Amino acid sequence: MDHAATTPLDPEVLSEMQPYLTEHFGNASSVHALGRKARFAVEDSRERVAELLNAEPSEIVFTSGGTEADNTALKGVLHHYHQSNGERGELITSAAEHEAILEPAEALREAGWPVTVLTPDHHGAVTPEQLEEAISEETALVSLMHANNETGVMTDIPAIAEVCQSYDALLHCDAVQTAGLFEIDVKALDADLISISGHKFYGPKGVGILYVRGGVDFDPLVVGGSQERERRGGTEHVPGIVGIAEALDRAVSAAEERRERLYRLQEQLIDGIHASFNGEIVLNTPVEEAFVAPHVVNVAFPPENGSPVDGEMLLLNLDMEGVLASAGSACTSGALEPSHVLTALGLPRKTASAAVRFSMGKDTDEDDVTYAIETLDEVVSRMR
Ligand code: PLP
Repeated sequence: MDHAATTPLDPEVLSEMQPYLTEHFGNASSVHALGRKARFAVEDSRERVAELLNAEPSEIVFTSGGTEADNTALKGVLHHYHQSNGERGELITSAAEHEAILEPAEALREAGWPVTVLTPDHHGAVTPEQLEEAISEETALVSLMHANNETGVMTDIPAIAEVCQSYDALLHCDAVQTAGLFEIDVKALDADLISISGHKFYGPKGVGILYVRGGVDFDPLVVGGSQERERRGGTEHVPGIVGIAEALDRAVSAAEERRERLYRLQEQLIDGIHASFNGEIVLNTPVEEAFVAPHVVNVAFPPENGSPVDGEMLLLNLDMEGVLASAGSACTSGALEPSHVLTALGLPRKTASAAVRFSMGKDTDEDDVTYAIETLDEVVSRMR
């Protein structure tokens, strides 16, 4: 029940990767036979990924994951803009973004860049109308996520792209939660840069993709080698690159069937939780009012409805019963701070502190969902 944090490596993906961890261990920059074997694997993977995303191979940059792709997009584009235009172009983003966006945005602000952090609407997404009010000729880059990792709420990226284009601003989209679950067609999404992470769709950890539309320049974040056409220095993670291409291919083929199944499980989970708690909870995944990703259900227990529920204790108790869920994103679940996403949606701190995110994956079934519903009911009753 925590697939938004990570997913298990598909054994078939592992078997594709395995030869590149052992016998074909060459450095893709070496000119000898072992190097050429590795280079072929990297370029073949790049072509596969490009085709799956409806992009060109030259538009694919392999990174160490979603966080590096996000940091590269923000810092890389804005530093390059500064170099070429002599001024610091504005960054617009949202308070509901992942830390991999919010922290580089903060670092840019501290270094003198104008940064605007929009408060999303109460469902959690920034609307094209909201962006229209904030954007100006000074805006160099807009960064908004495709689906929120805590609530599942989706942003209308093509409509956002239209607004950006009319102001000549670039658009970056963090699609870490949707790649592999929704087909990512870069032409349909129409963002200039898109971040993807392998471990969210049964691929390996520590490898990601930054799609960069042809003609869009950025300063590399990691320098020290001419790899990735001088856009990301460092010896290529060949097994990881082979793995992310294979995992993306498999996920894209299964995406439609998986989405349908997950939407049914999402409905079962929401109906079950409503039946147990009968109006006592706040549903932070607004399935009725917004377009949401199918794998996430986020609920909170407001202290005014029944006796208060301590969020950390709730997670620990669920864990003891074998239900592995999360409060907010995994990176912050060790801390006692309420989720920045839920507070950005206007949830009071105490309610946001008593929230739990369930996220399902390809192997979750109806029985798992039934067990999660029953366990949540039991654990909350016991705690109260
Ligand atoms: N962006 C979003 C929306 C995420 O959910 C995550 C992962 O939690 C990341 C970025 C970071 O990706 P990675 O774990 O590959 O660094």
